[in-house]
This record gives sequence, structure tokens and C-alpha cells, in this order.
Amino acid sequence: MQRTIIQVGTFEVNCSILSWGGEAWIVDPGAEAGRIIDALESARLAPRAILLTHAHFDHIGAIQGLQAKWPGLEVFLHPADETVLTHPLNSFAPDYPPAPRPQNIRDARTLAGVRSLRPIFTPGHTPGGMCYYFADDGLLLSGDTLFAGSIGRTDLPGGNMATLMASIDELKPLPDATVVVPGHGPSTTIGIEKSSNPYLMRD
Ligand SMILES: [Zn+2]
Ligand SMILES: [Zn+2]
Repeated sequence: MQRTIIQVGTFEVNCSILSWGGEAWIVDPGAEAGRIIDALESARLAPRAILLTHAHFDHIGAIQGLQAKWPGLEVFLHPADETVLTHPLNSFAPDYPPAPRPQNIRDARTLAGVRSLRPIFTPGHTPGGMCYYFADDGLLLSGDTLFAGSIGRTDLPGGNMATLMASIDELKPLPDATVVVPGHGPSTTIGIEKSSNPYLMRD
């Protein structure tokens, strides 16, 4: 796997472009569709799927632009976040007006085993939060569930702290060397977080 991370939008979401040969998956295309398209085209990559760690506005803003360019491009997320997608509060004007419902919505769990992906259901930040673990690459895309040194907020609609802590526990058994790319901010590893992130140090 090759991977490129582009920080997009006002909230600097880490949009990951994962590729195998000439085929790419786009994770959390939060904004700036033009920059994402440029990155794909300059690397001669054909997008095959959009994966969402969750449906918050800052992670979905470029879907419309990508699907305008590539109709048929599928959007994978956990079904429990479909209500978040078009919730009236899921916007932040003027940078993030309410987004239209994406075309071609699919259940992210159906990607299990493809490209060594293990989708891990991690609700708490949103009801349908997902982390994407690529076992062959030792890579975890943790969305807004786990950050370097912290965890996601739970005060937004559908958030729940006890649920999020249970989800964090699902991530602790991953190998220490696993590289973690969160939805925002710097990358880290499971080992670093287990030894320094207070939310992972509790038993
Ligand atoms: Zn979020
Ligand atoms: Zn976010």
C-alpha cells in the first residue's frame, strides 16, 4: 500500500489516499475536492471507493465534488451514521453548508477482508464511528475516535463517553507498532498511546 495524507478544510481533516497499483481508496474527503482530485490525477490513480470513519460535516464535504467527477464512486460508512449525514446540525456555515445525501451509500462492514482491511466498529464520537485497520500494513485510520494524546469529543449529538471508552478498549489489543492516522492532527502508534495517552492507560 502507498499512502498520502492531505489536510483539507477549515478543520484540517486528514484525508488519506490509500493506493494499490493504480487503484485508490479515499478516506474522509472532508473538503477541497479539487485538491483531492489533483492528488489522484497527478499520481495517476483511479478512485475505487470512499471510506468514512464517520459522517461529521468536516469529513464529508468533498464527496459531492468527487462523485461529480466520478459518478458511481461508492461511499462506505457504518449504517448507524446515515442519520448523521443529513442531520440539520451537521453543517458549519459558511465553510460547510449542509451536504446533500451522497449517492451509492454502502455498508463499510462489507469491506472486511478486502486489502486486509478489518473494519472496527467504534461508536461514541458518533453512533456509527468506524476505525479502519489494515493488518498487512500495520495501519489504523482512527477518525475522531483516537487522537495522538487524546480521544474524540462526545458532546455532539449522538456522542456518548462510556460508549467511546468501550470503543477505545477495542483498539488497545492492536500491535504496539500499528501506525495510527487520526482524523485530525499528527500520526502516532498504538504503543505510544498505550504508554502516554491517559484514556488508554486506565484499566
Ligand atoms: Zn467528528
Ligand atoms: Zn473531525
